[in-house]
Amino acid sequence: MSQPITLTEEQREFRRVVRQFCDDKIAPNAAEVDRTAEYSWENFEALKSMELTSLSYPVEYGGAGASLVDQAIVAEEISRACVSTSLSFLISKLGMLPVINFGSHDLKSKYIPRICSGESQCSYGLSEPDAGSDVASMTTRAVRDGDDWIISGTKCWITNAGISDLYTIFARTSDDRHKGITAFLVEADWGVQVEKLEHKLGIKGSPTGVIRLDEVRVPDFNRIGEVGEGFAAAMHTLDRSRPTIGAQAVGVAQGALDYSIGYLKERRTFGRPLSDNQGLQWMAADCAMRIEAARGMVYRACAMVDEDDPTGELSMMGAMAKAFASDVAMQVTTDCVQFLGGYGFTTEFPVERMMRDAKITQIYEGTNQIQRMVIAKKLFG
Ligand SMILES: Cc1cc2nc3c(=O)[nH]c(=O)nc-3n(C[C@H](O)[C@H](O)[C@H](O)COP(=O)(O)OP(=O)(O)OC[C@H]3O[C@@H](n4cnc5c(N)ncnc54)[C@H](O)[C@@H]3O)c2cc1C
Repeated sequence: MSQPITLTEEQREFRRVVRQFCDDKIAPNAAEVDRTAEYSWENFEALKSMELTSLSYPVEYGGAGASLVDQAIVAEEISRACVSTSLSFLISKLGMLPVINFGSHDLKSKYIPRICSGESQCSYGLSEPDAGSDVASMTTRAVRDGDDWIISGTKCWITNAGISDLYTIFARTSDDRHKGITAFLVEADWGVQVEKLEHKLGIKGSPTGVIRLDEVRVPDFNRIGEVGEGFAAAMHTLDRSRPTIGAQAVGVAQGALDYSIGYLKERRTFGRPLSDNQGLQWMAADCAMRIEAARGMVYRACAMVDEDDPTGELSMMGAMAKAFASDVAMQVTTDCVQFLGGYGFTTEFPVERMMRDAKITQIYEGTNQIQRMVIAKKLFG
């Protein structure tokens, strides 16, 4: 196991700046984004103006080259204000991780600068209607045709569907369950059709959709990595992205607790503030303890990514951080609704949105059951 990490003074200052930005530009729109269930281009433009779209991409390709710990700080702070908007920040990195780690130099040179400038966004097309937890059961096919590939199939639950102009698509290139999958970077204009957008419990400002590729022609130039390397690339990517889902979870939990503390100090019952009651103080203390434990795990997992997995324990640590933090987010946001009583149950106050938004962190990038399978696999060999 790597050592626990402490943030540097520079990182603490960075957090202060990002928090101020989120308080000023993101938080004021959060309730409206949730109510209208529409993607906020205004918030995306705000992220661009802070140069956050380039934060964690390699310097060589126009990025700022920041660490995953830095990326987690930003994901946490945006999620403290609005989880939907944190996806505008995170999703392209998820989509581009296979390109960064497996793509050719020419592919990176062509597309990463577009992502960094905010001109393009990229979605991650792994899940299918009958291949969610069991992704190796995918049926989307890519067939070689001269210098191109012809891709046909349906991908579901695609974050940023219809907003992204780039899609990383995992497709079957042979019948071998794991070694028969290859990844491609597909431009939306080549024929990616959005078939349906989902109506969801939370993260309503982040579109999630079903996309269809009907004999879409993709040049071999846009193949990511070797033929048959797609499944390995998908798992490698999730190991390096899951810690940032943990960061979303920590952020939304912190946002709900911060709001609740202010409320508990203001609201009076039986002639005194709610915060005078030890029963509620201890509930809040439990929330704070859990959030801090989750934050520590998330930063450790991120540091392991930054150190390129020195001990080979990243898969397990990333799974632990994601599952633990998201379970904490669900517990804490539920308690925060309780702190506000009936008011907490209404859309007048942000905690019910935060509770709904927290739920997704237990589901995507592998459900928490799947995370426990990853952890158990490491334990039992
Ligand atoms: C809002 C949203 C956004 C998403 N964004 C993306 C995206 O951008 N790109 C993408 O590719 N995917 C995305 N996903 C898909 C997500 O990763 C899957 O929904 C998730 O992996 C679960 O797959 P499933 O929904 O098919 O559930 P299933 O695999 O059908 O699982 C159903 C339930 O059974 C449990 N389960 C399954 N197998 C086992 C087992 N062996 N042991 C114990 N329990 C088990 C699961 O934990 C779950 O509780 C998104 C999903 C949502 C809801």
